[in-house]
Amino acid sequence: AQRLASQRRKVDETLAPFRLSQEQLQLVKARMRAGLKAGLKSKMTSGVKMLPSFVYHTPDGTEHGEYLALDLGGTNFRALLVRFKKGLQQNSRLYHKIYTIPLEIMQGTGEELFDHIAQCVSEFLDYMGMKKARLPAGFTFSFPCEQTALDTGTLVTWTKGYKATDCEGHDVVNMLREAIKRHNEFDLDIVALVNDTVGTMMSCAYEDPQCEIGLIAGTGSNVCYMEEMKNIEKIEQKEGEMEKKEGTPEREGDMQDDGTKGEKKVGDAKIQKMCINTEWGGLGDDGSLDDIITPYDIEVDQNSINTGKQRFEKMTSGMYLGEIVRQVLLDLTRRRLLFKGHVTETLKTPGIFKTEYVSKIESDRLALQQVRTILQQLGLKSTCNDSIIVKEVCGAVSRRAAQMVGAGMAALVDKMRENRGLDHLDITVGVDGALYKLHPHFSIVLQETARDLAPQCNVTFLPSEEGSGKGAALITAVARQKQ
Ligand code: ADP
Repeated sequence: AQRLASQRRKVDETLAPFRLSQEQLQLVKARMRAGLKAGLKSKMTSGVKMLPSFVYHTPDGTEHGEYLALDLGGTNFRALLVRFKKGLQQNSRLYHKIYTIPLEIMQGTGEELFDHIAQCVSEFLDYMGMKKARLPAGFTFSFPCEQTALDTGTLVTWTKGYKATDCEGHDVVNMLREAIKRHNEFDLDIVALVNDTVGTMMSCAYEDPQCEIGLIAGTGSNVCYMEEMKNIEKIEQKEGEMEKKEGTPEREGDMQDDGTKGEKKVGDAKIQKMCINTEWGGLGDDGSLDDIITPYDIEVDQNSINTGKQRFEKMTSGMYLGEIVRQVLLDLTRRRLLFKGHVTETLKTPGIFKTEYVSKIESDRLALQQVRTILQQLGLKSTCNDSIIVKEVCGAVSRRAAQMVGAGMAALVDKMRENRGLDHLDITVGVDGALYKLHPHFSIVLQETARDLAPQCNVTFLPSEEGSGKGAALITAVARQKQ
């Protein structure tokens, strides 16, 4: 019994750094708030990139017509054909197909990746019998892009396991257009480059006009929201010809020369807001989360293909949670607190402990015996006591993830509330992603934390039904109809 008590204590000590105190969560909130603010100022001073999307409005129900949406984000590529009828909601029809992106294509050359996409689109158009039409298309591309117009954007950096060569620093819409030309079998009118967060916000806003935030908790972690134009300093800097607002001090020497053609749309007096893709997964890349990051997070970061980057994402998203759990299990086993001290090859294999298993193990309906069965399937022979510990590790890691996302969300909604000079804000967050939708506790912990840390906001989470593709089609519809 004494041995067991000492084992318990050591496991508790190991998991303590994952159990964030109220003060630590307030710190995460404050740092996210600072990151959001710094990111709006000028390029690349903050890990939080705050990228303009050139989307100025959520949908208003007048959208109509037929649009293609192409969606490249995580492990899959999706092609969708969406039909909207005027008169709001439930009036869209959707046809889609999913194509997997093999690892060798994700990590091959850029040309191969975009050729593969063109090939998938070609097959989809064949399947739909629509190869002759030059359809207006929205391209959902869920990686950080520095956009200069709705249909122009260069990839800042790959994330989430992608590393195709010759893409970073290149205009991804151009790359897609070139690949379609090379394919030489169909043509598309690519109208919009869309982040998945923005697509998710748009598709949820189609149902709920209070939706002005889009959240992804899937392979990666990211959020977008509607920001006041007057706060987006970097747009002002780029749009040199835009009128200076009253009270804005003249600054010398900080005009960005990045080849921006100076789209005048932004000067339109009616435009008051723009959707900002925060890329909040980069919080901490400047060291601002160092006091919260555990040795296990450091290990996961060191073993990743983008070491030092996306530190917040690596603590909060599906691609990494299972890996964090594996690192903790490995350590506990090495210290003879788990699996009788047997460090097996399985346990040493990166990626073996998928986040899907974390969800399964934490499921309330599961008896401990079933946890043991799951571990056995993974090649891990456990005792009953082992399975209790594994479940605790999973719980600590996923709870911290949900709380950190909740703290980030609290920072964001408070910022939006203050932007509008309100004491109270009612707001809806459109959400997508398997971690949010499939993990047994993530969504509840996220919601509780956001409410605790932003008591002046009433935050409603609305799961996206159709995914970001429909949102990309809506953005395309708005853009084409305004012409
Ligand atoms: P995307 O890649 O576009 O984010 P998803 O939202 O489907 O797409 O997310 C897939 C990721 O979610 C996987 O990489 C995996 O990490 C995680 N995941 C998949 N199934 C589950 C699950 N049952 N519970 C928790 N996370 C999951």
